[in-house]
Amino acid sequence: MTSASADDDDDGFLDTGAQRHLGPLGPVGPLSFGCWRMVGSDTENTRAVHTALDLGMTLIDTADVYGLDWGGSHFGACEEALGRVFASDQGLRSRALVATKAGIVPGVPYVSSARHIGAAARASLSRLGLDYVDLFQVHRPDHFTHPAEVAAAFAQLHREGLARAFGVSNYGTDQIRALLAHTDVPVVSLQPEISVARLDALRDGTLDLCMERDLVPLAWSPLAGGRVATGEGLPAELLSVLDDIARRESVVRSAVAVAFVLAHPSRPVAIVGSQRPDRLTDIATATRVRLSRTDVYRIIQASDGRRLP
Ligand code: NAP
Repeated sequence: MTSASADDDDDGFLDTGAQRHLGPLGPVGPLSFGCWRMVGSDTENTRAVHTALDLGMTLIDTADVYGLDWGGSHFGACEEALGRVFASDQGLRSRALVATKAGIVPGVPYVSSARHIGAAARASLSRLGLDYVDLFQVHRPDHFTHPAEVAAAFAQLHREGLARAFGVSNYGTDQIRALLAHTDVPVVSLQPEISVARLDALRDGTLDLCMERDLVPLAWSPLAGGRVATGEGLPAELLSVLDDIARRESVVRSAVAVAFVLAHPSRPVAIVGSQRPDRLTDIATATRVRLSRTDVYRIIQASDGRRLP
């Protein structure tokens, strides 16, 4: 590994590798394995899950709706695929924290009523072949369900032992506050989109709220859905800055981009979406990338296409 620039000596390195704490679920590593694109064969899926767990990506994120798009065959298909992976090796379940989501209903599109959440959670457990999930999340906010009803649905799942902890995804900061005002079960995470190409959560209060309320941000699409790797639609200057740091750190560009997500003091967990063991292995080097403040502000300015004042 080559040495860092003089600037790095001035401002030190940001921590990308520390463990995160998901309330009663305990510590988790900074990388999670996402199953949105789990549309390969059972053999490929099993290999990907084994690789992810071996790399410390012990939080496995899926959703009931995964499988409906992105090359899948139907609603629930990715949960079924993950269920077959768990069924193939009884030891796997105990190595993983399983997270799923519900609340997107094709044709509606969002339902978070207590009745729906209860039924959806049971359907997910049946597809996954599990007695409980570790983390149950509302996938997208339903503006027409009172947060007290969502909180009551969480409490019911918790009482019945069907979910150990709870989270929400794509909620705005006010929506999260409103929900937290009504919950008395552990709400431990948010799931916003965060990447070098999507900086909103750093600026709209989402990550600040995580730090205020001790919530772990689970960053979805940390490679901007693969565009960080392919370069498609990303500013040339951003790719150049990422490549520059990647050369310095002797890692691939994707690892630098994921390290950028991990470097925020809210300690996000990056949900990595690749289903290829070789790429998962490359991306896992993100936790040893040394990023200084100079580096992360170079990335932000290149992403914005303008200098910060
Ligand atoms: P991502 O890590 O940003 O992108 C993954 C995609 O990038 C895969 O298609 C992968 O293809 C591709 N890729 C990675 N490295 C590549 C390379 N070197 N060259 C070309 N392509 C490359 O994450 P994501 O899949 O969009 O999302 C990750 C997870 O976040 C999902 O699985 C899901 O759990 C979660 N998510 C949540 C929401 C939400 O609303 N809450 C929305 C979207 C996603 P290969 O598989 O071929 O490597």
